[in-house]
Amino acid sequence: MAEMEITSIENWGFNFQRPLMIAGPCSAESPEQIEAIAKGLRGSQIDLFRAGIWKPRTRPGNFEGIGGDALEWLKIAKEILGVPTTVEVANAKHVENALKAEIDVLWIGARTTVNPFSVQEVCDALKGVDIPVMVKNPINPDLQLWLGAIERLYQSGISRIAAVHRGFSNRYVTEFRNAPEWSLPLKLKEMIPGLAIICDPSHICGSRDTIEEVSQKALNFGLDGLMLEVHHDPDNAWSDSKQQITPLTYNDMIKRLIIRDSIDSSPELKSDLVKLREKVDQMDKAMIDVLAERFGYIKAIGEYKRKNNLAVFQGDRWHDVTSSRVNMGKEKDLSEEFMYKIMEAIHDESIKQQESMLEKES
Ligand code: PEP
Ligand code: MN
Repeated sequence: MAEMEITSIENWGFNFQRPLMIAGPCSAESPEQIEAIAKGLRGSQIDLFRAGIWKPRTRPGNFEGIGGDALEWLKIAKEILGVPTTVEVANAKHVENALKAEIDVLWIGARTTVNPFSVQEVCDALKGVDIPVMVKNPINPDLQLWLGAIERLYQSGISRIAAVHRGFSNRYVTEFRNAPEWSLPLKLKEMIPGLAIICDPSHICGSRDTIEEVSQKALNFGLDGLMLEVHHDPDNAWSDSKQQITPLTYNDMIKRLIIRDSIDSSPELKSDLVKLREKVDQMDKAMIDVLAERFGYIKAIGEYKRKNNLAVFQGDRWHDVTSSRVNMGKEKDLSEEFMYKIMEAIHDESIKQQESMLEKES
């Protein structure tokens, strides 16, 4: 597909700035709940109020959202906070109802982005409608699916698009509900220049205690905003109760967050950065040259082993090599874990190369 010209969030027509702050409950529960949360958020930095109306639940039996009736309640938040509102849509009916209720921004959820049929249905319902849409990453770490959903929207005439990074499903139990896999949103940013990526630490963390740390990390990586689930009484929330924070916690937390300057906003920063990146480029080239030279010796050793009928893997030698290199790295402030990983990768490649020499012979 030809390059997309995405309208930057500053030009969406809402006075949005970076970092864009989106806050509100996982689910709309009652008009009183929306009112309590909005009142709690008064005076905090917030650009867009969120609430789930139709909740896609992994298993039936959990609260599946109030449905269309709750759309009107969002006007309460709009009135109190003076900010636009956003809801998740997953099919044509949702789009139709959300537009009728004058919701300002739509988002496509992680369980919808995985399915091109559903994404296309939403896109078809949006033909000829000019509304901004945010696209959450698919549940599985598949950059193409995320990109594909954005492309489908763009093809249906939407250019006010942002991406939301909410982490990726992981079959191992880790400290996160959804693994952040930071390289994926960063790669997407590289692929679509001008696309804002908003981090959703609530769904990455799955619990309150790591939300601040992940929010700061997102800003450090240069992501363009945060979407945070905020509830006036999180423990009694009807969905995602463990990961929601109170308006007070939200306010305190965002005051502590260190906002990193975006590269585009500061020309001197940009030129310093260009110089530093040139250094990194030179270092990488030097590193590759050294590696290639090292593998030249590995081949010579392989040749020696072949001639003398020695096994490729020599356990003692490998043990000495790793432990000495790990120690050398530690003296230069490189972590033990990192040094092990690097030495292991080099060793695997060496073994492969030497084995292929023996295979050629046999
Ligand atoms: C949500 O934002 O409440 C939600 C359901 O998120 P996700 O689609 O990222 O799981
Ligand atoms: Mn949620």
